[in-house]
Amino acid sequence: MSLFQPLNMACPACGALVTVDAVGSVNADRRPDLRDDILANAFQDMTCTACKTSFRLQPNFNYLDAGRGQWIASMPGSRMPHYLEIEDKVTELFDTSYGKDAPPAAQTVGRDLAVRLTFGWPAVREKLLIREHGLDDAVVEMLKLDLLRRLPKAPLAPGVELRLIDVSDTTLMMVWLETASEDVKGDVQVPREMYEGIAEHAEAWAPIRAELENGPFVDMQKLYMGEGRAA
Ligand SMILES: [Zn+2]
Repeated sequence: MSLFQPLNMACPACGALVTVDAVGSVNADRRPDLRDDILANAFQDMTCTACKTSFRLQPNFNYLDAGRGQWIASMPGSRMPHYLEIEDKVTELFDTSYGKDAPPAAQTVGRDLAVRLTFGWPAVREKLLIREHGLDDAVVEMLKLDLLRRLPKAPLAPGVELRLIDVSDTTLMMVWLETASEDVKGDVQVPREMYEGIAEHAEAWAPIRAELENGPFVDMQKLYMGEGRAA
């Protein structure tokens, strides 16, 4: 099921009290239109009934796509610094929903699900795009790390991140953006060979992959936030 709940909030523009339908969970198998909305950057866009200003709710929902083998806990971008404790909660939630503590029928579904945790809209959209194009999300994160080493003027700063936004036969299109506002700061066109080069050297990259995959937050930003997870 896809679940929405009415949420009372102040319009960020005029302060009027508005009631919006906030999403709590998305079932993309039954509601493929919601997946399309996420990919179109239009999901949870709201318009204030008083001043007609458009604004977007921050994500805070669980996403299931059994057909494509994806389960994602999509959280607001501002929560990212707390990723370690959120990873633990998300792992527990998955275990009781589709993992080792779930009923047998749910476990059968869960066996084919990749469990991920994302912060902000660009991150959850990126995970859908990666699966759409048959890419490996850990390799995409390793590619970003490789880019940081090569780009002399990477606009890396707190709250600024590198996200994949489109994929063609020859190129991976990435942008630098502010997580909260989604404002784009610059773009990077990455030749697909760079991705393939990392994918082919799995052994050399294995230690980095292990760090990225030590919890459901598979994102290169975890490698430079705080002390990380104890081995
Ligand atoms: Zn308003």
